[in-house]
Amino acid sequence: MLEYVSTRGGDERKRGAAAIIQGIAKDRGLFVPEKLPKLPFKPERKIGSPYQNVAFQVLKAFLPDFDDEEIAKCVGGAYDSKFEAPDIVPLVKTKKAYFLELYHGRTAAFKDMALAILPYLLTIAMKKEKEGKRVAILTATSGDTGKAALEGFSDVPGTEIIVFYPKNGVSQVQERQMVTQTGKNTHVFGIRGNFDDAQSGVKKIFNDEALAVRLSEKGYRLSSANSINIGRLIPQTAYYVYAYMKLLELGAVKGGEPVNVAVPTGNFGNILAAYYAKRMGVPVKKLICASNKNNVLTDFINDGVYDANREFYVTNSPSMDILVSSNLERLLYHLSGDDPRAVSALMRDLDSAGRYEVGARIRDGLKDFYGGFADVRRTNDSIGKLYEEEGYLMDTHTAVAYAVYDEYREASGDETPTLVVSTASAYKFADSVADAIGLDTDEDGFENIRRLHEKTGVRVPDGLKNLETKEIRHKEVVRVDGMAEATLRALKA
Ligand SMILES: *Cc1c(COP(=O)(O)O)cnc(C)c1O
Repeated sequence: MLEYVSTRGGDERKRGAAAIIQGIAKDRGLFVPEKLPKLPFKPERKIGSPYQNVAFQVLKAFLPDFDDEEIAKCVGGAYDSKFEAPDIVPLVKTKKAYFLELYHGRTAAFKDMALAILPYLLTIAMKKEKEGKRVAILTATSGDTGKAALEGFSDVPGTEIIVFYPKNGVSQVQERQMVTQTGKNTHVFGIRGNFDDAQSGVKKIFNDEALAVRLSEKGYRLSSANSINIGRLIPQTAYYVYAYMKLLELGAVKGGEPVNVAVPTGNFGNILAAYYAKRMGVPVKKLICASNKNNVLTDFINDGVYDANREFYVTNSPSMDILVSSNLERLLYHLSGDDPRAVSALMRDLDSAGRYEVGARIRDGLKDFYGGFADVRRTNDSIGKLYEEEGYLMDTHTAVAYAVYDEYREASGDETPTLVVSTASAYKFADSVADAIGLDTDEDGFENIRRLHEKTGVRVPDGLKNLETKEIRHKEVVRVDGMAEATLRALKA
């Protein structure tokens, strides 16, 4: 049976359920499938399958310890009418690309694709593993994960959800979405620091054994809703399989013909899911990894050197303002030929020097990737141009991917049909998008949503309506060194 191992080799093999509950391995590595499963069907044989069926098959391949009924319950509970698009992830054709719109869930960003299903996976896993404790989900967010996790876990029995976000590092709309969250088990804290501070603060709490003992006495164990949790990645693989089947249906490709995938990348979770889909058998030619001005991944893909010692920029694609992309560790594991010692050595270098350099074997594997980046000006230019020329509206993150794809296409002459992964509603970043299409913008983000709607007529997602008038329920801001203390306080209540 398929089991999960740590990228650093220092934890026992675990069934899927146990790996999901635990979140991160004991040796601080990440859980990976010891062998990547193959798709149990040929995509061209199942053209026209609904999203739920594809997700079912993909989950089943990764989680053989869940029975069919359990998987059906997860998929059915997650991908239902709370998505505002009947086909869950619509594919929209433009002149140069196919936009895979992953943002029609409750929080208007692609994080819903995983976080709508994670609570089901986790609660069923707890039952299967006879986990007696309550699970406290600890999450660092650059804006979108936090809201999607809060929405997914709100009032889920047996769980508490605690979110830390950089007080000055998220948009007004993102902040308002989080601080108005309802649910007795929800806890939200701003921190005085950036996303990397929030993420390393959370990792530190996970590694704090004394704290774990105190929490255990109170009847809690910690887990994570960040993409370090394998339960987030597995469901994301499904939409790449589904998108390929849609391209077959549209006649854009024939069975076995390749596609490219362009992904706006932050923590490397979404593009890793695309890589998993490729390894499962979806014919992906280039994995186009798009970054904003925080272009540490671009340099890594081009030179094989990962160097986080650089200036941190706040951009208008904040969910990609990241210098340490956690999930890259999983790719290193797979590209090294499943070598936990090689990964451990690289991660030691990262811890001690903020930098590592990979050897020939991993560099060779990186040839499947193209790395590029777009700064704010190029991002906004591509939003304005695509809207003007074709009337299609992108958010800032999606626009980074589109700009990098455009550059790749020009430079390589590669005309392979390409999926541009669309990760958020334009309304979530209305200030920048309104500006990019030439509107006068206001100080107030909500006013910009109104102006953008008036101009474009694109529907405003339900989750972003009436946000201004909702009660603010979470007001606390803490220092980075106060995060553990805040966690304890939240769990006392
Ligand atoms: C999280 C996020 C990303 C980055 O995704 P990763 O899986 O972290 O690489 C891109 N765009 C949006 C809108 C996001 O919320």
